[in-house]
Amino acid sequence: MSTTAAPPKKDTYTPLELFSTDRLLDSDERDIATTVRKFVETRLRPNVEDWFESATLPKELAKEFGDLGVLGMHLQGYGCAGTNAVSYGLACMELEAGDSGFRSFVSVQGSLSMFSIYRYGSEEQKQEWLPRLAAGEAIGCFGLTEPDFGSNPAGMRTRARRSGAGENADWVLNGTKMWITNGNLADVATVWAQTDEGIRGFLVPTDTPGFTANAIHKKLSLRASVTSELVLDNVRLPASAQLPEAVGLGAPLSCLNEARFGIVFGALGAARDSLETAIAYTQSREVFDRPLSSFQLTQEKLANMTLELGKGMLLAIHLGRMKDAEGARPEQISLGKLNNVREALAIARECRTLLGGSGITLEYSPLRHANNLESVLTYEGTSEMHMLSIGRALTGQAAFR
Ligand SMILES: Cc1cc2nc3c(=O)[nH]c(=O)nc-3n(C[C@H](O)[C@H](O)[C@H](O)COP(=O)(O)OP(=O)(O)OC[C@H]3O[C@@H](n4cnc5c(N)ncnc54)[C@H](O)[C@@H]3O)c2cc1C
Repeated sequence: MSTTAAPPKKDTYTPLELFSTDRLLDSDERDIATTVRKFVETRLRPNVEDWFESATLPKELAKEFGDLGVLGMHLQGYGCAGTNAVSYGLACMELEAGDSGFRSFVSVQGSLSMFSIYRYGSEEQKQEWLPRLAAGEAIGCFGLTEPDFGSNPAGMRTRARRSGAGENADWVLNGTKMWITNGNLADVATVWAQTDEGIRGFLVPTDTPGFTANAIHKKLSLRASVTSELVLDNVRLPASAQLPEAVGLGAPLSCLNEARFGIVFGALGAARDSLETAIAYTQSREVFDRPLSSFQLTQEKLANMTLELGKGMLLAIHLGRMKDAEGARPEQISLGKLNNVREALAIARECRTLLGGSGITLEYSPLRHANNLESVLTYEGTSEMHMLSIGRALTGQAAFR
């Protein structure tokens, strides 16, 4: 933790400088954030408008994310960087300052695909997939949601049946998964299915006969991200494709909890970028013969948004420190996901108002971020599901059904 003196007084500060949240980070954490921020500024930001408009995410970015060291960076061994949770969160924040699509790719690869293998896979599965996934030489996806079962994945209809007697018999999978990030890019899919013993996880190489990924088009949100339907039509897998340690719905939910933690920080990146864009714009835009930034209504908006951004950052760092020490419970991660995504979305929309007509174009980031955050509000548990999870923790009563 930093023990340096207070930073020198300046004429103006960025919103997070005002909170001095950097003083809660150590030098390794600050270095990681700076490295990822530079990559975002030089490699991603110059292209993001085109990728968003054309609804593409170039596959070669996977290798570049691997070289940057952000894929599965919070996991130990198997080519992973082994950083603490706060560093992973900061990397997510910097990536999402570029676009939620970049953070989504890294979240799904590291926290859903890789974490499911790391936590629940056999040693052979780990050796086969984790080093390649960490390097970005292979891409993973995570199929839990189905067309009729999103908030309630326990009802999933995807079915895995043994094709014969005994533990060594092949598995045959049938079903459909929906809204799967990286689905059309993936080399391996972690697929969750009902079996006679309950929900189990399977690693499905995407070139297995019977596996199809269909890209979902006409999205208004997360356009610089690939989202797919996965169809499993008599997909035959060896017994060794099952994740041996994954027993029941708790397994996929624990993976989601990992990814949600990244969102707690990530969403703030989109908010920070929106706010910094709005501050710069209001300083250069003249209305009624004065800079827009000099009006009290504008400063009220900027002050309120700065407060929410800074409070969200303090919450994110607090959850990260807990995760690195004794661990954070799922309902505590829910507090962070619910608050920080909700406030980030409100900030991005408010920033858009400050940009007037200019705010509706891709030239400025706030509306792109706001559109993306609509997806972030929905995936990894909708805001309503997180409210119910917090409500259950407060009252002891589950109101899900
Ligand atoms: C861009 C994108 C990427 C995604 N990536 C992935 C991925 O990689 N892997 C994956 O498995 N899934 C992924 N998802 C799916 C995502 O997790 C689901 O969309 C989400 O869980 C919600 O499910 P649903 O869309 O079926 O909505 P529903 O469950 O049908 O919910 C609709 C509305 O009803 C509300 N609701 C539901 N139940 C209750 C209740 N009990 N009380 C009150 N309100 C309720 C919800 O909060 C929501 O507002 C992705 C989704 C999107 C949009």
